[in-house]
Amino acid sequence: MSPRPQHAPLDQFAVVDDELIVGDTPIRRLAEQVGQTPFYAYDREAITRRVRALRQALPEGISLHYAMKANPMPAVVDHLASLMDGLDVASAGELSVAMDSGMAPADISFAGPGKRDEELAAAIAAGITINLESAGELHRVNVQGERLGITPQVAVRVNPDFELKSSGMKMAGGAKPFGIDAEMVPGTLAGIGSLGLHFRGFHIFSGSQNLRPESLIEAQSATFELAYRLADKAPAPVELLNIGGGFGIPYFPGEQRLDLGPVSANLDDRLNECRSRLPGAEVVLELGRYLVAEAGVYVTRVVDRKESRGQTFLVCDGGLHHHLAASGNFGQVIRKNYPVVTGHRVHGAPRETVSVVGPLCTPLDLLADKMDLGAAQAGDLIAVLQSGAYGYTASPHLFLSHPAPVEVLV
Ligand SMILES: *Cc1c(COP(=O)(O)O)cnc(C)c1O
Repeated sequence: MSPRPQHAPLDQFAVVDDELIVGDTPIRRLAEQVGQTPFYAYDREAITRRVRALRQALPEGISLHYAMKANPMPAVVDHLASLMDGLDVASAGELSVAMDSGMAPADISFAGPGKRDEELAAAIAAGITINLESAGELHRVNVQGERLGITPQVAVRVNPDFELKSSGMKMAGGAKPFGIDAEMVPGTLAGIGSLGLHFRGFHIFSGSQNLRPESLIEAQSATFELAYRLADKAPAPVELLNIGGGFGIPYFPGEQRLDLGPVSANLDDRLNECRSRLPGAEVVLELGRYLVAEAGVYVTRVVDRKESRGQTFLVCDGGLHHHLAASGNFGQVIRKNYPVVTGHRVHGAPRETVSVVGPLCTPLDLLADKMDLGAAQAGDLIAVLQSGAYGYTASPHLFLSHPAPVEVLV
C-alpha cells in the first residue's frame, strides 16, 4: 500500500535546490524583495498558463469571465482582464476595480444579494449588467434608472430547482438568498418587459468547488434546459447566458485535479444546441478560484519553535487572521490541512512532524496539524499553497490587532 498522500498535487511551482520558486524567484529572496512577512504572492505566469490551458481544453465559442471575489487585488484583476472575456463583480467596490481594468462595461456583470441603492445607481451609470436577485431589487433598479434617466441593463439570476451535487458550497436549489426562484422568474420577466428595462439574459449559478465531472455535466445540462424554458417567457431574445462555473481545485490530501475532458465534450454539445435554441446568445462560464487559487502562496515566518508534551509547534507571524480558509474555518465541516511546505526544504530531509500555528490566542489558529515538513527553525519561512483565492480578503485581519499581510503579483 502506498502511504496516504500528505498533500494535494504540488506541481504548480518549480522547486530548485529544494526551495520553492514563485514568480521566478526563490521564496527567501522574494521575502527580502517584499520586505516583510507575512505576505501573499501571486504568480502572474501561473495565472496566464491556467487561462491558456482552460481555453485549449474548452470548446471554442464559450466566453470566460472572472468572478472577482475570489481575488480582487487590482493587479490580479488587471492581469486577468487582459486574458478573460469579462468580469463578474459582487459589490460597488469590486465594480470600481473592474472599471479601472479597462474591461468593457458590456462584459461586466454584478450579482449578489442586498445591493444597495447607491450600488445599483453606480452599476446603471457604468452601463454594466445587473443580475437581479429579487422582485424588490427589480423595483429598486427601476427607480434608480428613472432617477438617472438611463435604461438599466438587467439579467435575471435564477435560483434553479436543482443543485450542483458534491459541491464545496451549496448556493442554489431549495430556499436561498441568491437569485429568484425558477418558478417566480416568469413574473420577473413580465415585470422587466412592462418597465421597459433592457433584458440581457440569465445567470444560473448552481454551486462551487466541484471536482466531479459528472456532477458538473449534470448541472450544466439542467442549466441549459432551464434557460430554454425561461427564454420562452422573456421580453426579448437572450443575449447573455451565464451558466455559472463551479470548477474546483484540489486542496486536500487525496484530491485530484478536475478532468476537463468530459466537461468540455458535454459543453460542446450543449453549445451547438444552444446556437439553435437561443440564437445569438453569448454563453458565459464564470470562474473564480479555478483561475487563481493555485497561483497563490501565503508566506509566514517562524517566530518560535516549541515542544509541548511530545508535540512540536512552529509558531509563526501569520495565521488565521490572514488566512481563515487554511485554518479550516471558512466553510469546512472537517478540518483538513492545506498543502504547507517549508520554503527552503520542500521535499528533502531532514523532516519532522510538526504543527504550524499562528500568533493568535485561540486553538483555531492552526495552519498545519501534525504535518510532515522539512525541518524549520525560528526565522525560516513556511509557505501555504493553494492560497490565491479566498485568502487575503476572506480573512479577519483585525482580529488581535496584528499587522496586515501584504500582497504582491510577481
Ligand atoms: C463566488 C462566486 C463565483 C466564484 O466561485 P469559485 O468557486 O471561486 O469559482 C462565481 N459565481 C458566483 C455567482 C459566485 O457567487
